[in-house]
Amino acid sequence: MALVSTPAVLLRTYPYGDSSRVLRFYARDLGLVGILARGVRGKGGKQGSGLGTFASGVLTAYVRPHRDLHTMKEFHAVDVRTGLGSDVLRFAAASTVAELLLGHTEQEAQPGLYDTLEAVLDSLRDGDPALLPTLAVSSLWRMVVALGYAPSLRECVRCGRVLGGDEMGRFHLAAGGVCCAECDDPAVGPRVGPTARRHLEDLLAGVSVIPVAYPRRHLALVADFVGHHLVHRPLKSLGMLVDLLPVDDGSGT
Ligand SMILES: [Zn+2]
Repeated sequence: MALVSTPAVLLRTYPYGDSSRVLRFYARDLGLVGILARGVRGKGGKQGSGLGTFASGVLTAYVRPHRDLHTMKEFHAVDVRTGLGSDVLRFAAASTVAELLLGHTEQEAQPGLYDTLEAVLDSLRDGDPALLPTLAVSSLWRMVVALGYAPSLRECVRCGRVLGGDEMGRFHLAAGGVCCAECDDPAVGPRVGPTARRHLEDLLAGVSVIPVAYPRRHLALVADFVGHHLVHRPLKSLGMLVDLLPVDDGSGT
């Protein structure tokens, strides 16, 4: 058993016994971990404070190799991200990101993934309200990329040819990227034209600065992609998130 201190984000908590909780953290040096926190329920005292969902801080825990559940010594919250709880769309997007990570990640440390998680949660908390639907979609794509599943957007996933700048393509869900006009097959996924591909590149990179048109269509695409490649069951939080996005009317850009 080793005493480990690591930056960590709290993703979910469950009651455990009369006075304890099981906390699921994504920790920079440990990956996804379950931590038993004894005596923290109903007190709100020194140990219980700061244990809100999406809080970032330094977790110190007694870690046993090859165990699912470790024991918390302390969690020193550095940023409790209360802003995420004050807006239902911000909260739903953050919950979907957390559920994706909880549903997919194996217990291994991926510091790049941790850093993306921090950046994504900050962007959801701080983002301009007009850009929030776009940020919600972007957050999911950024996590997909950080998990190592970035879709191919420039070269056809079937023939390898680079798509022309004004060429209509199609998103091939199973193959994990776009296919060109010559390889087109309506059965494999939705059409993605040049503008949609450019928007997708910005969403994946987390650099979108203008609201995307059709945010619901964009959410459906990333949800279908996640369902094909990353999780076995649909993410429950997606149902809440999609209802909060504006209905697609094409009035964005
Ligand atoms: Zn092709």
